[in-house]
Amino acid sequence: MAFCINCGQSHPDGTRFCRFCGNQQPGEALLQRLRMEAQQIQNIRFQMQQQYQQPPRW
Ligand SMILES: [Zn+2]
Repeated sequence: MAFCINCGQSHPDGTRFCRFCGNQQPGEALLQRLRMEAQQIQNIRFQMQQQYQQPPRW
């Protein structure tokens, strides 16, 4: 359950437009951005692990 950022009425998750005032909801875009950021963090962690697991060369 989410709430409209404009009028405060409740509506189901994933609703793009409020059915009361028609205001566009930021939920989906925000979730996409968070997923992208999480993916980037995972990539960085993976790269760091790869570097850490490389045997020393000397
Ligand atoms: Zn609304």
